[in-house]
Amino acid sequence: MNQLYGHEATLQRFTDALATETLHHAWLLYGMKGIGKHTLAGKLAGFMMCEVQSACGECHGCKMLAAGSHPDVYRLGLLEGKRDLNIEQVRGVLSFLSLSAAESGRRVVILDDAERMNHQAANALLKGLEEPSAGSVLLMVCSDLERLPATVRSRCMLQQCSPLSDADVRVVLEQQENPVQERYLDLAVDLADGCPGSVSCLQDTAIASALLEWRDLIADPARADIGKIEGWIRLHVKTVPHLLIARMLTQVVYPVLHKTCDTATFENREVLQQALFDCIRWPGDVVRHSLRAGPALLACVLQLRAALKAI
Ligand SMILES: [Zn+2]
Repeated sequence: MNQLYGHEATLQRFTDALATETLHHAWLLYGMKGIGKHTLAGKLAGFMMCEVQSACGECHGCKMLAAGSHPDVYRLGLLEGKRDLNIEQVRGVLSFLSLSAAESGRRVVILDDAERMNHQAANALLKGLEEPSAGSVLLMVCSDLERLPATVRSRCMLQQCSPLSDADVRVVLEQQENPVQERYLDLAVDLADGCPGSVSCLQDTAIASALLEWRDLIADPARADIGKIEGWIRLHVKTVPHLLIARMLTQVVYPVLHKTCDTATFENREVLQQALFDCIRWPGDVVRHSLRAGPALLACVLQLRAALKAI
C-alpha cells in the first residue's frame, strides 16, 4: 500500500469510530483530484482489515490486503475507456456487501470515481445505502461532489479531504514509485498546488523540461517573445497537460493582478481579469468546443500580454 501523507484528521475520525464501534456504513471522501483520496481509502480499509485495527502491516489481514487478495475488500472505479460507472458494477458492490465476511468479520468496498455513477447506478446504490448489511462499510471517493445526487450524499458521512501542504507534496513526489527528478522537484511542488497527483506526469523528464522552458518563456508575459512561445506551443501542446500549462500562466499573472489593486484603472483590471479567466477556461474550452488547442492558447497569451501592457 502507498504511504499516506496528510489527511490525519480523517484518519483519526475513522479510527476513533472504528474503536468505539460507531463506524458509519457509508463514507464519502471528497476533495480535489490528485490529493490522495484513493490512498486514504486504502488506508482506512487497512485499519478495518487489520487484526489489531492499527494497519500494522504484519498480521494476516494486513498482508492479504497488501497482496491485493483480501476476500473482504472489493475495489471498483471507472473502467478504462468508459464514461460511467454502470448499474452492473453497483449490483456487484451490493451483492458483495450482502455476503458475510470471510476473514475479518467486516467487508469493505472502495468505490472510486463515485461522481461518475450514471443515474441507474446511483439509484441502485441508494437502495443498498438504505439497508446496510451488518459489518459492511462503503468508502466512496469523489472529486466532484456536485455531480453526486443529493439523495446519495445525504445518506453518507461526508468527509472533506484537503490539499496537502507543500512539504507533504514534496515527500509524495520524492517517494513515489517513479519519483520526480531532483532538479524538477521545486517546479513540481509549485505547480502541484497541494495536489501531487496533478503533477505526476513530471516523472517524464521530457514533460518536466518542457514545463521549465514554458515557465521561462512566460516569466514576464508583458514582454513575452511571441515567436518563441508559438514555437513552444507547436512542439509541446499535444504532450504537456493543458491544465499545467494554464496553471503556470495563472501562477505568473495572479500576483501581478494583485499588485495592481491600487494603481491600475478599474477597466484595465477588468480586461486583465478577463484574460486570466480565459486562460483558466482554455483547457475546458478546448474539450467543450473542440478548439484547436495551439491557436487557442496563443490567443490567450496574446490577450494576456495586451492586458498586461495596458496596465
Ligand atoms: Zn494488521
